[in-house]
Amino acid sequence: MSKIAFLGLGQMGTPMAARLLRAGHHVTVWNRTPGRAAPFAQQGAVVAPSPAEAAADVDFAITMLATRDALEEVVLGEHGLAPGLGAGQILIDMSTVGPEAVTRVAARLPNGVSMVDAPVRGSAPQATEGTLDVFVGATDEDFERVRPILEVLGRVWHVGGPGSGAAMKLVVNLPLGAAIVALGEALALGESLALDRSLVLDVLADSPIGSSVKSKRANIESGHYPPNFKLRHAAKDLRLVTETADATGRGLRLAHATLTWLDEATKHGAADLDYSAVVAAIVGEKAST
Ligand code: NAP
Repeated sequence: MSKIAFLGLGQMGTPMAARLLRAGHHVTVWNRTPGRAAPFAQQGAVVAPSPAEAAADVDFAITMLATRDALEEVVLGEHGLAPGLGAGQILIDMSTVGPEAVTRVAARLPNGVSMVDAPVRGSAPQATEGTLDVFVGATDEDFERVRPILEVLGRVWHVGGPGSGAAMKLVVNLPLGAAIVALGEALALGESLALDRSLVLDVLADSPIGSSVKSKRANIESGHYPPNFKLRHAAKDLRLVTETADATGRGLRLAHATLTWLDEATKHGAADLDYSAVVAAIVGEKAST
């Protein structure tokens, strides 16, 4: 069994850290808001007062944080992970932050500390069940070391060297965002053409965006969008997609259009609702938790 520090106990990090604990690993947790870490003490975890102290003496430190700024703060900030890490330890970042942030953080780790990027597909239910898809960017040697830990969390894909996991995650989230926006626009079009919404949803359930229809129909029909994957994170991801693509000279028009709708929904107060609340913004309806 390994000694693991787990940092970031949000909607995803909480069930992931709990799975690692239940699998018998020695887990130390840290979260910026301490109230989220406290329940882990009852489950047998050690609660660390700072990232640096969480890192002491572990084999792996896992971060599951909101943004690249959060990652930089937790790893490189005062009392951050980096000064607490030493040769032989591996930092596994599972947040969605894009390959550039991974490279930047990896370059500032102490000598002998490896960084593996391992962002995930799937949401809180998959994190609880251990059925996430984990996209790993790592050397072959580091991959073999992290694989048993990550297999506790889901299906593990070794997609290439360092940075490749973060890159694959951007590829995955572009169609996810585009599909929910396509659903919103299809409903808006159906409404303009005086079609029955329930029938439109039945028909779209058997279309290329069928999985979005099936998983988000209850939200759309009730007007309630409790967050599984927060809209602020979807907007952050589409911004990473467009920035990354723009930097390589690719004009991804669908990605830009998707981001426009997510930004619009944010302006309507939907940032902390589920990302499917973008549908409500497109059709001009109210959305709440
Ligand atoms: P979340 O519920 O919003 O939790 C975010 C975590 O980051 C919390 O632990 C939060 O701490 C911490 N954090 C934010 N800013 C920080 C800062 N400046 N310093 C230190 N800690 C900070 O997010 P989530 O849904 O778990 O998602 C985590 C990551 O996984 C994101 O990158 C997201 O895009 C990605 N992801 C999410 C899903 C999903 O379905 N939810 C699926 C795949 C990937 P506090 O508790 O103190 O706020």
